[in-house]
Amino acid sequence: MKGFPIQEDKSAIKMSIVNFSRVLKFRNNILIPDNSFSILVLKSLILILFLFSSSFSPLNPATRTTASAYAELEAKIRNNYDKYSVFRWDQYHELMALLSQDKYIALPLNKMRRTYNDSKVVVGIRHDVDFNPFKALEMAYIEKSYGIRATYFFLATAEYYGKISDFIITRSPGIESLFKEVHNTGAEIGIHNDLLTVLITDKIDPYQFNKEELKLYKSLRTPIYGTASHGSALAKVTVPNFQIFSDFASSDSLDFQGKKYPLGKHSLKECGFRYEAYSIDFGFYFSDSGGKWNDPEGLAGILKKLEASKPGDRIQILIHPDWWGKTSN
Ligand SMILES: [Zn+2]
Repeated sequence: MKGFPIQEDKSAIKMSIVNFSRVLKFRNNILIPDNSFSILVLKSLILILFLFSSSFSPLNPATRTTASAYAELEAKIRNNYDKYSVFRWDQYHELMALLSQDKYIALPLNKMRRTYNDSKVVVGIRHDVDFNPFKALEMAYIEKSYGIRATYFFLATAEYYGKISDFIITRSPGIESLFKEVHNTGAEIGIHNDLLTVLITDKIDPYQFNKEELKLYKSLRTPIYGTASHGSALAKVTVPNFQIFSDFASSDSLDFQGKKYPLGKHSLKECGFRYEAYSIDFGFYFSDSGGKWNDPEGLAGILKKLEASKPGDRIQILIHPDWWGKTSN
C-alpha cells in the first residue's frame, strides 16, 4: 500500500490537465481558427484578464499600496515593541495543548458567555491587544493550529491603530488588513475600550467615537459583539473605562483636574455591544497583565489550576499577545 496516495494524486493532476486541454480545444473549434498561435493569444488574454481583475493582483495599485503600508507599519511596531515580550511561543503551545483536551471547551467570549456545560470546564480566552497587534496575529495562527478560537480586543488609542488629533482619528494605513486577517483565522474581534481617554484627553464625544469604530468593523465585515475595558493610565487615577456605560457607572459624572465629565450617558446596548468582558459570568480569572501571571508560580501555577479545575467551572483567561513570542534573552 506504500506510495498509493501519491500515485492517486498524480493521476488526479493528469486528469485535470486532460480536461483543461479539452476545454481549450472545444473553444478553439467554435471561436478561433485552428492554429497554435491563436491558442497562445487566447491563453495570454485569459492571463492578462485574470491579472487585472484579481483584487490580489500585483498590478492592482490599491493592493500594492496596502501591502507596502502594512509592511511599514509592521516594521515600525515590531522594532518598537517586540523587545517587550517575556513569554515564549513554546509555552503558549503548552497552554493550547492542555486546553485542547476533552475536559475543556475553550471559546471566544461571545460564545463562552452563552455556553453552560456541566460535564466540561468552560474557558473564555480573551486577548487585550495593547501595543503589538503583530504578536496577536502570530498568536491567532497558533490557536488556529489547535482548533481553538479566542477574542482579540483592539485598542483605538494605541500607536499601532493610528493618531487622534484635532478631533479626528487617522488610522494607520494597513491596520485594517491585519484586523481582517486575525478575524479570518476564526477569531472574534472586539473593541478594547479606552473611551475615558477619548473623552478627557482627546475631547471627543465617546458615543460618536465608538460609533465610528463600529462603522469601520462593519465595513470590514468583522462583527463586533463585545468590549473589554483598557486599564489606561488615566483610568488608574479616575475610574475604570467600563464606567462610561450606564450599566456600570457609579455616578453620572467624573471630576478630574477641576473639570466635570459625564459618565453613563449611554448603555452598553445603545453603544452596540452585547457584553463587557469583565461582566461575563465566570468563577475563575487568570491573567498575564503586566507580563506577569496572577499566580506566584507563573504559567506552571496556571496550568496546575487548570488541571485541578472541575466540570462545570467557568474560567476567563486574559492573555496579552504583547508579552509573547520572546525574541531575545
Ligand atoms: Zn489594555
